[in-house]
Amino acid sequence: MVWSRIGARLSGRSGILELMDDLGQALADGTDTVAMMGGGNPAHVPAVEEAWRARLTQMMATPGEIEHALGDYDPPAGRTSFRQAVATYLQQQCGWPVTAEHVVVTAGSQTGCFLLFNLLAGTGEDGRLRRVGFPMVPEYIGYADQLAEPGVLTAWQPRVEATGEHRFRYRIDRDAVDPGDDLGLLAVSRPCNPTAGCLEDDDLDWLIDLAVQRGLVLLIDNAYGLPFPGAVYAERRPPAWSDHLVYGLSLSKLGLPGTRTGIMVCGDPQLARRLAAMNAVIGLANPSLGQAIVEPWLLDGTMDRLGSEVVPGFYRAARDTALAQLDRALAGREYAVHEPDGAFFLWLHLPGLADDRALYRACKAAGLVVVPGSYFFPGFARAWHHRHQCLRLSYCRPEAEIARGCQVLAQVLAAT
Ligand code: PLP
Repeated sequence: MVWSRIGARLSGRSGILELMDDLGQALADGTDTVAMMGGGNPAHVPAVEEAWRARLTQMMATPGEIEHALGDYDPPAGRTSFRQAVATYLQQQCGWPVTAEHVVVTAGSQTGCFLLFNLLAGTGEDGRLRRVGFPMVPEYIGYADQLAEPGVLTAWQPRVEATGEHRFRYRIDRDAVDPGDDLGLLAVSRPCNPTAGCLEDDDLDWLIDLAVQRGLVLLIDNAYGLPFPGAVYAERRPPAWSDHLVYGLSLSKLGLPGTRTGIMVCGDPQLARRLAAMNAVIGLANPSLGQAIVEPWLLDGTMDRLGSEVVPGFYRAARDTALAQLDRALAGREYAVHEPDGAFFLWLHLPGLADDRALYRACKAAGLVVVPGSYFFPGFARAWHHRHQCLRLSYCRPEAEIARGCQVLAQVLAAT
C-alpha cells in the first residue's frame, strides 16, 4: 500500500503514540505491579469528582438537559451558551475584552493545536513556507508530529540556570530567539509540559511584544494553568490580552479528559471562525458533555473554587510529597530537578546520563513507566547532550506508587 505523505506522517511511530500506548498498557496490566509515572493523565481529585457527579445528577433530573447534551449536535464552534460563559469568565478573571466570537471549542486542546498549527504553518496560499517556533525547548511532546508538512518546526535552546541544590530552571534566551521572516506562529506551554516550569511574567510580556512587533500569532497553551484548571504553585498571572494571542484552555487537567473538550480563545475572531470551519470538515461538531457539565460552573463560582483552591491545593501537596520522595531516593547522586512551578510533573536532569531511552527501557523492565526526555525537543535540530539526559516523571498516582517508582528509579540508576 502507498500511504499519502500526510497519512504516513500521522500514522507512523510518534512519541505521543508511544506515550499513550504505554499509559494504556500499564493501566491495563494493573497498577500493583507497575509504578506509572509516565502518562499525562490527571489525578482523580475527589472534590472535582464530587462536583461533576453532582452536576450530572442535576442534569439527569432536569428535563431536557441530558437529552440535549447527548442527543443533539452543537454548532462547529461549540455551544453558543458555553462560549458566552467562557468569555464572561475570562472577562471577570483576567479582565480580557473577549466575547463568544473569540472562543472556539475543539475536541480536546490537542486537536485545537493541530488545527491551529496547520492553519498558520506549512506552505501558504502565497507559496511561502511558514514555521511554528518554540521559544525554548523542552516543549510538549504532542506538538512534534502535528504538521501536515515535514520540517516546519523550529526551536531555540534555553539558558540553564542553577537555582539551588539539585534544582535548576530553563529561561528563554532572549538574545538567541530570532523569529526570522518565515514564522507563522510562536507556541509555548505555560505551565510547561514536560518541565513543570511556568514561564515568568516578564518573559511572557517579552514574548507577546515580540509577537506584536513581528505580526505573529502567539499560542499560549494553558492546558494546566490560569485561571483554570489552576495547577500553578508559583506567583504568576495570566497574560495581558493582545489581538496576537491564542490562549489554549482545556477541561482535561481539571479532571475531565474523557469529555475531550478544548477551548481556543483567539485574539482575532477571524481565527476562531476559521478553526470552527475546520471543526465542521473534520468532525462536524465537538463532544458536548464537557461543555454541558462545566457551563454553569463558570457562572456560579464552582470553577473559581476548583481553579483557585481545589486543583492547586491537591497538586501542590502531591508535588511536595513526590519531590521529597525523589530527593530521598536519589540522595548522594548527581541530579537536578526543574523548579516545579505547576502542572504535575518532575523533570529530572541526570548530568552523567548517556542515553535517556536506554534508561527508560531499563525502568520499564523493572516495572516503572516514565517518559524519556529526548521526545520533548520538537523542531530542535542542534546537538545538545542535555536532551539525552532527562526524564519526565508524573506524580498523579497514589503516594505509595510514586514512592515505589522513585525507589525503582534509584535501583535502576545504581545498576547502570
Ligand atoms: N497541551 C499540553 C501542554 C498538554 O500537556 C496536553 C495534554 O497532556 C495537551 C495540550 C492536550 O490535552 P487535551 O487534548 O486533553 O486537552
